[in-house]
Amino acid sequence: MVSSLNHGLIAKRLAGKVAIITGGASGIGASTARLFQKHGAKVVIADIQDDLGHALSQDLGPNVNYIHCDVTNDDDVRKTVDHAVASHGSLHIMFNNAGFAGSIYPSITEIEKEKFEKVLSINVVGAFLGAKHAARVMVPARKGSILFTSSMVSVLCVSPVHAYTASKHAVVGLAKSLGVELGEFGIRVNCISPYAVATPMMKKHFGMEAEGCEDLAARAANLKGVVLKAEDIADAALFLASDESKYVSALNLVVDGGFSIVNPSLSMVLDQGKA
Ligand code: NAD
Repeated sequence: MVSSLNHGLIAKRLAGKVAIITGGASGIGASTARLFQKHGAKVVIADIQDDLGHALSQDLGPNVNYIHCDVTNDDDVRKTVDHAVASHGSLHIMFNNAGFAGSIYPSITEIEKEKFEKVLSINVVGAFLGAKHAARVMVPARKGSILFTSSMVSVLCVSPVHAYTASKHAVVGLAKSLGVELGEFGIRVNCISPYAVATPMMKKHFGMEAEGCEDLAARAANLKGVVLKAEDIADAALFLASDESKYVSALNLVVDGGFSIVNPSLSMVLDQGKA
């Protein structure tokens, strides 16, 4: 038999699957929507950026649709999951990717409680609601893949972004805890923790254009000669969403080129001593 790859066609790694991607209108979520659609999935993009979400779903064709969903709103998330099931008959992949970085503060003493709570509400409560409503339909089906986008700040701290760091640690904790509960039902739960990617979130956070963001990331990176793109995180999501990762659960897949295991402090002090 001649492989479809020999004909220049891609193997469809998500054929027959239905996926919801929160924060799917932009950045990593939008790249993942494109890739999942390319691999045969029916995709529901859930976001609060309606114009972007509608435009992307139209661009990607009839197997992709958009729904307004504020992940902090229980009713919105419930309706999004129900919409996916009503439209496509099932839900196999729930990618809880929507996120908010918040602002950079010089000190914890300057962070207002409401600002801290907003970051936790989107990143943690939003992730919880996505997982809760996905589990509601995945448990009876006894299968599913729940994914979260955490961050490299789930395994290291880089600057005083306390709310964001706390929230991304919490997401990993939630994923591991759910992996334990839902394993009994054949449901896998995993996290992806990216290094810096020049998405609208990063551009806003650092007040730079994409080129400046990528230059900053490249200078600090451990792995040289490559630039991490949203498409690379989408590739990780494709692996964890597909049956190729059928025995992978409760994993925090850190996509950081080894950045998080490097501590340059001693080298810097030694270099200073030589100067
Ligand atoms: P992005 O700004 O391009 O995308 C984030 C999306 O989340 C946006 O479309 C936004 O509208 C949506 N969103 C925000 N609040 C929402 C809400 N209440 N309800 C529904 N949708 C909401 O940024 P991105 O970098 O693609 O972010 C995706 C995820 O990746 C986030 O969880 C982020 O924390 C994480 N992340 C990003 C980086 C990076 O460097 N870009 C690194 C590590 C982790």
